Amino acid sequence: MNLLAECQGAKRIGISGHIRPDGDCVGSCLALYQYLKKGLPEAVVQVYLENPAETFREIGGFEDILAPLEEQETFDVYFALDCSGDRLGGAERYYNGAGKKINIDHHISNSGSGDVNLVRPEVGSCCEVLFELFDKELLDADIAKAVYIGMIHDTGVFQYSNTRPETLRIAAQLIEYGFDFPGIIQETFYQKTYLQTQIMGRVLMESVRFLDGHCIVGWVDRRTMEFYNVSSKDFEGIVNQLRNIEGVDCAIFMYETDIQEFKISLRTSDKVDATKVVGPFGGGGHMRAAGCTMKGTFHDCVNNLSRYIAEQLDK
Ligand code: AMP
Ligand code: MN
Ligand code: MN
Repeated sequence: MNLLAECQGAKRIGISGHIRPDGDCVGSCLALYQYLKKGLPEAVVQVYLENPAETFREIGGFEDILAPLEEQETFDVYFALDCSGDRLGGAERYYNGAGKKINIDHHISNSGSGDVNLVRPEVGSCCEVLFELFDKELLDADIAKAVYIGMIHDTGVFQYSNTRPETLRIAAQLIEYGFDFPGIIQETFYQKTYLQTQIMGRVLMESVRFLDGHCIVGWVDRRTMEFYNVSSKDFEGIVNQLRNIEGVDCAIFMYETDIQEFKISLRTSDKVDATKVVGPFGGGGHMRAAGCTMKGTFHDCVNNLSRYIAEQLDK
């Protein structure tokens, strides 16, 4: 895919990623935003994201991110990044109404929602997929930094099994641009606020193991979220911490999004395919990291998930 050729003649171009945007989502949107503005100076380029975390403010273009609230003129081209077209939240209507829909992603569960699709499940991050599309002549330190942030978030700083030799070769090219990479890893990936650390501690302390210790679940209800004054953005990293526990093949983290509704996050070892556990509940993601939203009580959700986990562990 040639990004600039796909946008040839477009006057208005929109870019969005999934709801509850993570590092790869914000990094992808802002990398493409900066790239298109540079490559197509005549076009109006806009990025719409719901509530990106303030920790990403260091990425160029962050202050230009718009909330998908008001009615918009239609877009000639609209990009859905790091997800399928049905997880864009309020920007879904911009995407669906666009002259040309382009979907670039790396989720195995995405069958392609655009007029033009590039879904590469073997690649660790959407940023990495984008990097391979970028004309290297247009790259600069700001674009490189945005790509790098997405890569470190989705690969757990090049630790997870989705890290390819090519991932590291790309990272090597990126850090040549000379941005402060230790600083952004610390500030966007490892650093937590005091409250985030407290809520993580509480979830870990109250977590419960089941299926002979192969599974663990941690959760937060609305009341606790209100007590600590925390929201979904503050839970990043909790599920990974649960997954780090010895003997655990499937870690589940869930928080209440509404009455009897939970957002579920899964992280698994090679014994459990996470997409097969959340798939029956309309979720998706990757083999080792996936998510979904479920209705019911806490116990209903855990019971329902546990069936699909046990099935795989039994094999
Ligand atoms: P999370 O646990 O929310 O960090 O998500 C883990 C991975 O699964 C990420 O790549 C998400 O984009 C993806 N994911 C989470 N929820 C869903 C969903 N409902 N549908 C499709 N993919 C999801
Ligand atoms: Mn993502
Ligand atoms: Mn991603």
